[in-house]
Amino acid sequence: MLIDGHGRTVNYLRVSVTERCNFRCQYCMPEKPFSWVPRENLLSFEELFLFIKVAIDEGVNKIRITGGEPLLRENLDSFIRMISEYKNDIDLALTTNAYLLPEVAQKLKDAGLKRLNISLDTLKPDVAYKIAQKDVLGKVLEGIDKALEVGLKVKINMVPLKGINDSEILDIIKYCRERNIKVRFIEYMENRHASESLRGMHGREILDKVKEGHTIRALGREGASPSFNYLLDEKYEFGLIDPHKHDFCESCNRIRLTAEGHLIPCLYFDEAMSIAESVKKGDIEGAAKVLATVLKDKPKENRWSEDNPDEEKDVSTRAFYETGG
Ligand code: SAM
Ligand code: SF4
Repeated sequence: MLIDGHGRTVNYLRVSVTERCNFRCQYCMPEKPFSWVPRENLLSFEELFLFIKVAIDEGVNKIRITGGEPLLRENLDSFIRMISEYKNDIDLALTTNAYLLPEVAQKLKDAGLKRLNISLDTLKPDVAYKIAQKDVLGKVLEGIDKALEVGLKVKINMVPLKGINDSEILDIIKYCRERNIKVRFIEYMENRHASESLRGMHGREILDKVKEGHTIRALGREGASPSFNYLLDEKYEFGLIDPHKHDFCESCNRIRLTAEGHLIPCLYFDEAMSIAESVKKGDIEGAAKVLATVLKDKPKENRWSEDNPDEEKDVSTRAFYETGG
C-alpha cells in the first residue's frame, strides 16, 4: 500500500501520454504559440508501462490516461491493452476532448478501457469555437454519442467561466440528464498559462445557477473523489470539483506522471522528480525509490485559497496540458 507523508493512501495514478493538443482551450493553454517538448523526450509506452507496473505492484488500482489530448498519441489502444492485460480488474479510465473519439472509441473499449471523462463546456458552436479556438463542437458531440454506443461509461466535465458559458450550466445538465450521464462542474483553476481575461465561477455561484427552478440536496464527497455530489430534484446526481475549498485536499489519493517522466505529487506545485532515467535503464528499484520519495514529500494542500474569495486567487505555474489536469 502507498501512504504519503500525511498518512493519506495513494491508489490513483494519472498518466499524461502527451502534452500536445488539437484544441487551444483558453483556460489551459497560452494564446501565443509555444514550442512543444521534443518528441524524443517523450517516454515510450514500454517505458511508461514499466513504471505503471511498479505502481500497480505497490497498490495503485486506478489509472487515468490523459494529456494534452491523449488520443493524439498513435496506437493508444496498445498501451491500454498492456495495462488491462497486466491487471484486468484495474479501474482504467481516459480523459479526452472527444474530437477524435468517433474513429477510436470501439478500439479503446476492445483494448480494455472502462470509463471516459469528456470535456464539454458548451452546446453552442460559436462558444465552443471561442473556448477551444477551433470549430470543434460537432465532432465532440459525435464522439460522446459514439462512446455511449460502444458501451463505455461516460462522465462530462464542464469548466464554467463568467460571461462565456455560465448561462449554459442548466443546458449541460439537461443534455447529460437526457443521456443518463453524470456531469461534474470544475471550478476554474487559476494558472499562468491561461488567458488573463478569464474569470471562473466559484462553486457556490455554480450551485446558485443550478438552483434556478430546481431543488438540490448535498450528498457529500464520494470516498477520495475530488467531486462533491449533489442530487437535483431528488433524481439526478451531479458533481462539483471545488479545489478552492479547504477540505478538498484532505482525502487526495493521487499522483501524476507526465509524458516526459516527471512524477508530480500535487497539481498546484512545481515540485517533481523524474523516473525517466530509471525506466530507460529498466531499473525497477530506481523507479520504486523515486515513487517513495515523491510520496513522502507530497504537499498537504494546494494554494487555490478561498480565504479572500473576492480578491485575486493564487495562481499555479503548472500547465494543465502538461500534467493532464
Ligand atoms: N484534453 C483532454 C480534455 O480536455 O479533456 C484531457 C486533458 S485536460 C488538461 C483535463 C481536464 O482539465 C479537462 O476536463 C479540462 O477541462 C480541465 N482543465 C484544464 N485547464 C483547467 C483549468 N484551468 N481549470 C480547471 N480545469 C481545467
Ligand atoms: Fe487541450 Fe484538454 Fe487543454 Fe483543452 S483542456 S487545450 S482539450 S489539453
